[in-house]
Amino acid sequence: MSLSAPSPQHYDFDLFVIGAGSGGVRCARIAASLGARVAIAESRHWGGTCVNLGCVPKKLFVRASAFAEIFEDSHGFGWSATNITHDWISLIAAKNREITRLNSVYTSLLEKAGVTLFTGHARFLNPHTLQIDPSELAPHETPRTITAERIVIATGSTPVRPHFVGAEFAITSDEAFYLPERPQRVVLVGGGYIGVEFAGIFSGFGTQVDLIYRRDLPLAGFDEDLRHALTKAMTLRGIIQHPSTHIHQITREHSGYIVTLDNGQSLRTDCVFLATGRRPKIDELGLENTAITTAGNGRIIVDEHNQTAQKGVYAIGDVTDRINLTPVAIAEGHILAETLFGTAPPRQWSFDTTPKAVFFTPPLASVGLTETEATQKGDVDIYMTQFTPLHHTLSGRKEPKTLIKLVVAHDSQKVIGAHIFGDDAPEILQSVAIAVTAGLTKADFDRTIGIHPTSAEELVTLRTCTRTTPYTPNATPTTP
Ligand code: NDP
Repeated sequence: MSLSAPSPQHYDFDLFVIGAGSGGVRCARIAASLGARVAIAESRHWGGTCVNLGCVPKKLFVRASAFAEIFEDSHGFGWSATNITHDWISLIAAKNREITRLNSVYTSLLEKAGVTLFTGHARFLNPHTLQIDPSELAPHETPRTITAERIVIATGSTPVRPHFVGAEFAITSDEAFYLPERPQRVVLVGGGYIGVEFAGIFSGFGTQVDLIYRRDLPLAGFDEDLRHALTKAMTLRGIIQHPSTHIHQITREHSGYIVTLDNGQSLRTDCVFLATGRRPKIDELGLENTAITTAGNGRIIVDEHNQTAQKGVYAIGDVTDRINLTPVAIAEGHILAETLFGTAPPRQWSFDTTPKAVFFTPPLASVGLTETEATQKGDVDIYMTQFTPLHHTLSGRKEPKTLIKLVVAHDSQKVIGAHIFGDDAPEILQSVAIAVTAGLTKADFDRTIGIHPTSAEELVTLRTCTRTTPYTPNATPTTP
């Protein structure tokens, strides 16, 4: 007797979402709440990068590493915190417990919304039919095929590994959250969000950090004054920076690695960490069975309504490689669901004033235009202050200073950019982002009463214009 192949189990939905990260989950939940029959497939971890390998564990690590300075500063307030030690394994275990809890929060939110969940990798067989993981099914299981009128690709992104000799010895942020022990020495490559944040994390724990980046300053795209303040703070924290430098190769030695730089310098380290950007995750999606088009590093091309070149198939979040931030993916998912299934016009978001933050210790945050970007549009008035926060008068920590900067359009007096470096910068800046999004003027800031004593009150007490920078249509960021 011969066994015939099991026939596929078939499901049909109004909407099928591929990827249960921040954007996909929001899209599925809103669509289901609007009455659509919705399913979602996730191949790796519910909640996606943000919950499992990104924002959430990162923020927990930043908090964990920041305690070192708090213990140190407490001496100035009469405490005598001595013999302080840190247990890396306990931190990883606590972080893992929280992530497991969040995974089930995500699945239960989806189930309560009436969304059907599939665990497995989804692949297009044709523009409106997908198959889930036939290769991973046990022999007795039947393959699952799904048809849906509308399909949303929300598969996110994955770390990029540049090609050089020995690149295979390096880790990325994916592995950094599961290191079995904290390295004593780490070489971080990349001066973007992840490079800067992990430089802060590891240095806080006492790891010797070398940060290699290819520009003259870290955090390309952020305001120059913030970038200068950050690089100074990194040096104060003991981080050795290698600006305008590339990695040449990594070789293994008995107790670690030797990193050779393009300037001929060699660094001995326990861990090399590549933080050199992320690329859209489109592998094995079967896009060749659709009319979907991609560009550059694999980003899926979409129109202003997030529709791909294949009618009825949409893409949101990092897989489209535009503003690769969790809240943006959430907004895109929400708008798309309401556009497809809502009866009222979809909720509006202002993507032009998307605030952003980098969680170094201390952190920095920005909204709107940098000074350089603003001068490409017209004359700008700059209001800037740098000061030692009150609590550091007793800790004796005079540096780094908090920096607050407003970029004001000279003619309209609208506040078109706000930039903060210092304790609580992201918490403060979220509210400032409302003012910038609303198009408020410097006079609106000035007539607002401050909260005393705070760092944030400086935002409403900046009386003197630091400088007026003239219209410079071809302005480019300056070098130090
Ligand atoms: P980023 O794009 O922020 O930074 C990448 C860094 O690597 C840049 O300094 C870049 O240099 C450099 N780089 C790129 N390719 C190479 C190469 N081949 N050789 C040497 N250096 C290279 O990416 P990250 O990996 O830091 O983070 C990925 C994304 O994740 C971010 O863009 C952000 O969207 C998101 N994220 C957001 C966070 C937040 O909101 N707080 C935190 C962490 C991540 P150059 O500037 O010259 O291109």
